[in-house]
Amino acid sequence: MERKKNYFAGPSVMPVEVLEKLKEDMVDFKGQGLSMIEASHRGGMFEEMYDQCLALFRELLGISDEYDVYFLGGGATLQFTMIPMNFLRPGSVADYIRSGTWSNKAADDAEKLGKVNYYYDGKANNYSSLPDPKTVKPSENSSYLYLCSNETIGGIEWQDFPDTGSVPLIGDMSSDIFSRPIPVDSFSMIYGGVQKNLGPAGATFIIMKKSLLEKQNSNLTAYMDYKLHSKNKGLYNTPPVFSIWAVKLVLEWIKANGGTEGMLKRAIEKSSIIYDTIDNSSFFRSPVDAAYRSRMNIVFRLPNEELEAKFVEESKKEGMLGLKGHRSVGGLRASIYNALPVEDVVALAQFMKEFERKNG
Ligand code: PMP
Repeated sequence: MERKKNYFAGPSVMPVEVLEKLKEDMVDFKGQGLSMIEASHRGGMFEEMYDQCLALFRELLGISDEYDVYFLGGGATLQFTMIPMNFLRPGSVADYIRSGTWSNKAADDAEKLGKVNYYYDGKANNYSSLPDPKTVKPSENSSYLYLCSNETIGGIEWQDFPDTGSVPLIGDMSSDIFSRPIPVDSFSMIYGGVQKNLGPAGATFIIMKKSLLEKQNSNLTAYMDYKLHSKNKGLYNTPPVFSIWAVKLVLEWIKANGGTEGMLKRAIEKSSIIYDTIDNSSFFRSPVDAAYRSRMNIVFRLPNEELEAKFVEESKKEGMLGLKGHRSVGGLRASIYNALPVEDVVALAQFMKEFERKNG
């Protein structure tokens, strides 16, 4: 079977070795006579795998004991609600950086639950840039400052992060987690859906500084309460077992491929191939401030929408999927997550050059 070249934004490409392992162990997990997805989450088989998954997660990101790490369901979207419910203190304000679709959705949800200050809104530049992290200062009496490290739709990514002092910094890293080392200690909370760099959709990872829980609001319903999840290591209710199992295998793949440093090298190599193709052409155009270009989601435009539609149609014939930009912004987008082979990025660059030769 020839696999497609997969540039979908999420769910997205998985390491083929991981898919093979899932297949191998699907019916009979390591000779135990049942599948991992048939086993109780209160039993040894799952718990052993889960503990290994969390340990590897911590090891690869260098997460200290000051933090809890676990998985929840509900997608990254549920966190848009849980964060303000837990941490936006009445009488205080939360600072949000509006940098595109995902941080805007989080800010809009927070606004329904408390007072929100827009520290920055990229609307004026069509969400093509970010504030200089060195200049970012939370407002006085702020409950937390919130940002999205990589806007999956707009294709902009923070390269460094603000120092918010004693104000907790919270980051949505759904689409660039494990693509590079991250300064976990600068954050009080990092979270994200796993369906880009980590595995099949279903689980949301939570990295939370234990001391953040001291500032939590009270009277929360069970599932909305981070303290309850922390106490139960994410196993208060049935966890997304399949997704977590696959995440464990993807983490092993990341470790075998050089950890986060290895992923960063891969990301630089792959994203440079496409950005160089764009920059060396007067046909393709990047709408994003070069200082904040995403290494995971490369957004680009052609001279007109007819050519963009043609590009998508012709790329499909070459077995290339997912190059159409998000319906809310149009244009083209190549998501080139960790698992996407370098050869598939080279193939895309060749296809782009050929398309320009024929249509430019
Ligand atoms: N944040 C970011 C950066 C995303 O890319 C997405 C989904 N693409 C979400 C949040 C929402 O995730 P979910 O669909 O898992 O709720």
